[in-house]
Amino acid sequence: MNRVYNFSAGPSMLPLPVLEKAASELVCYGDSGMSVMEMSHRSPAYEAIIQKAEADFRKVMNIPDNYKVLFLQGGASTQFAAIPLNLMKTGKADYILSGQFSTKAQKEAAKYGDAKIVASSKDKNFSEIPQTTRADFRPDADYVHICYNNTIYGTKFNYIPDTGDIPLVADLSSCIMSEPVDVTKFGVIYAGAQKNMAPAGLTVVIVREDLLGNARPETPSMLDWQLMADNDSMYNTPPCYSIYVAGLVYEWILSIGGLEEMKKMNEKKANLLYDYLDSQDYYIAPVSKESRSMMNVTFVTGNEELDKKFPKEAEKAGLMNLKGHRSVGGMRASIYNAMPYEGVEALVAFMKDFAEKNPK
Ligand SMILES: *Cc1c(COP(=O)(O)O)cnc(C)c1O
Repeated sequence: MNRVYNFSAGPSMLPLPVLEKAASELVCYGDSGMSVMEMSHRSPAYEAIIQKAEADFRKVMNIPDNYKVLFLQGGASTQFAAIPLNLMKTGKADYILSGQFSTKAQKEAAKYGDAKIVASSKDKNFSEIPQTTRADFRPDADYVHICYNNTIYGTKFNYIPDTGDIPLVADLSSCIMSEPVDVTKFGVIYAGAQKNMAPAGLTVVIVREDLLGNARPETPSMLDWQLMADNDSMYNTPPCYSIYVAGLVYEWILSIGGLEEMKKMNEKKANLLYDYLDSQDYYIAPVSKESRSMMNVTFVTGNEELDKKFPKEAEKAGLMNLKGHRSVGGMRASIYNAMPYEGVEALVAFMKDFAEKNPK
């Protein structure tokens, strides 16, 4: 079996020890005599799985007791609607636009109320993170929304906006568990799991308890965070197998030393790639240095033909999915937690080789 280095933005690589553990338990979990895929979500065996997953997730992220953890479905995109439906009391919310997902989130919220764009880097082609101060936010806004790491453009917030008493709501889909974050700085953190946590199908929401209970009357039950919290994410059938794999990922992170250690490993990988990009002039990194993402690294050659050739040639070398998002072109290397250092070394070696063989 030859595993490739998969630079996909999501679904993306999972840690090999997690896949191996899942494989070893695939047909028969513990002494249950069945696969986790076949289990009733109300069975004692599954209840133990989901409870341990939540406890370990709380440990990994250092989540305080006054926050609820919800294991939901529908992807981060469903939360774009759930957020206004659960949080808009005055009908006002402030959005910072830093890329496509925050733009989608704002558009969705605008269906339910006054979703004001208070800052945007659209005029800079989202190559940097907009800077804000507290004065940018409306004092009567119900929340401020940001997308913390912009998967498509390869940027990340290099500061946490000061919103005063206004709850900060953040999409962490593509950077969750890549480094420690101070959960208390946020009212809500949400993430689709398929980037850095689990197979597709699971969406996690971390919500401060005092923000629950404000869902609008027309909110679908499945989007009502209070209802989901009251039912321990078991109002209906949860994405059982994805939660189980997420649990294995949490165990893996704890086993290597938690998020402090994870951050060191991720910095080492990102530095290797960015240092190379900064040391030459064949490839161009379009993102401003202060806004660089540690998870999604974008670059171009400046020549469309070469940009097309690069990912194709890379695949022949076992480096997969390096094509940039269809809306921005160029290349993107997603180097999430599960990407080994050796994968980034192989990428840099390939980049050098490609530059030599394809003069501009
Ligand atoms: C992938 C992604 C989304 C969309 O997630 P789905 O789970 O496909 O809905 C939203 N936000 C960010 C930051 C993402 O990376």
